[in-house]
Amino acid sequence: MADVVVVGAGISGAASAYELATAGLKVVLIDRYGPAAMASGWTLAGVRQSGRHPAELPLARRAVSIWDTLAEQLGAPTHYRRRGNLRLARTPEEWASLAAMVEEQCAAGLDLSLLDAKQVAALAPAVSPAVLGASYCPTDGHADPQATVQAFVDAAVRAGAETRFGEDVLSIDTAGGRVVGVTTNAGHIPAGRVILAAGVFGNRLLGPLGLSVPLRVRLVTAVRTAPAAPVLDQVIGVANADCAGRQEVTGRFRFTGGSTEWAGEVETGARPRVRPPTRGVADAIRLFGAAVPAVLDAPIDEIWAGLIDQTPDALPVLQQVSDPAGLVIAMGFSGHGFCLGPVTGQVAAAMAQDLPVDLPLEPFALARFDRWNAPSEPMTLHG
Ligand SMILES: Cc1cc2nc3c(=O)[nH]c(=O)nc-3n(C[C@H](O)[C@H](O)[C@H](O)COP(=O)(O)OP(=O)(O)OC[C@H]3O[C@@H](n4cnc5c(N)ncnc54)[C@H](O)[C@@H]3O)c2cc1C
Repeated sequence: MADVVVVGAGISGAASAYELATAGLKVVLIDRYGPAAMASGWTLAGVRQSGRHPAELPLARRAVSIWDTLAEQLGAPTHYRRRGNLRLARTPEEWASLAAMVEEQCAAGLDLSLLDAKQVAALAPAVSPAVLGASYCPTDGHADPQATVQAFVDAAVRAGAETRFGEDVLSIDTAGGRVVGVTTNAGHIPAGRVILAAGVFGNRLLGPLGLSVPLRVRLVTAVRTAPAAPVLDQVIGVANADCAGRQEVTGRFRFTGGSTEWAGEVETGARPRVRPPTRGVADAIRLFGAAVPAVLDAPIDEIWAGLIDQTPDALPVLQQVSDPAGLVIAMGFSGHGFCLGPVTGQVAAAMAQDLPVDLPLEPFALARFDRWNAPSEPMTLHG
């Protein structure tokens, strides 16, 4: 009998399992594939506060404060670098939208400034001289997603968590209005609490419980090059979110294009795979290559597509529901849940223990969609 079963070993589930195991609970962490198999491996892995929705900013700021010492805490490298995020303006319209964002976010207390082209060139000479300027948040950064999720999993296991990888959760089981465990392809696991952190597949388990997070699944093409000479410290986004990228500590450029609607099937094997459309690859190279021309000289090593669990307001659902009791949902991170991972883990683990959380969480309740009648928010992938 487990105290808590965590479904999904992406960053949200792995961080939750770590928090619960270190609090002394008996935890089982299950993933159909393994750590960081889906969004948490496909990600660009920017760790950013800038450009966040005001409701999400307190979580992002808390997360960034955790990222600072996370590697030390987990006893393994995350390759986190706090070297800033530059969001580029390529047209007067983009400049105007960045100026408005900087004003709004400075008022919310974030250290964010607007740089002209000369200042951008001085800070990031690899950025194209054609840009008009950029917003700059010095406390944003990036990390290695596989290393970070593995570090959470390994630390959870050291603290006593059991992992079951390659196992498929088929149902969340209930009796008398309460969670009583899960059934996997290997059998039933009794547990009083379940944290559902299953990303784009979460609704398959919620549906039979009469619950659903409204999700559109969006596809983003990602490209990774061979190692190149280090030229870029910051994560680069653009005002209209049609590309983003960074240079890893390995020297590899990792960059993405914009997003498109997706309704295909994930190819399954040892690891899940989604094939990007050729146009998506061409667009990502053209757009990010125009922003940071050095990437165009680097040989390509890998190309993949990632899927995004996009909610109508582009905010996650992070809530302990009352029916069935004992179920915590952590889904719908809408393209910016990697940065939040460490705080998502703390919040979900606290919810699963009925502990208070000192963060404003009302905006993340599932019931907000009962009254939702506004148009959907656009994708805002900015690193
Ligand atoms: C291309 C791309 C770029 C991104 N860039 C950024 C960025 O720069 N910054 C940022 O903060 N965020 C970014 N994101 C978003 C971020 O990566 C995600 O929000 C985050 O990784 C979500 O983590 P998760 O743990 O909630 O979900 P996932 O990582 O998707 O994990 C869900 C896990 O659940 C498992 N699972 C599902 N169903 C079952 C089942 N029935 N049984 C067992 N296991 C199951 C899956 O195998 C999977 O491993 C990006 C995403 C993409 C795709």
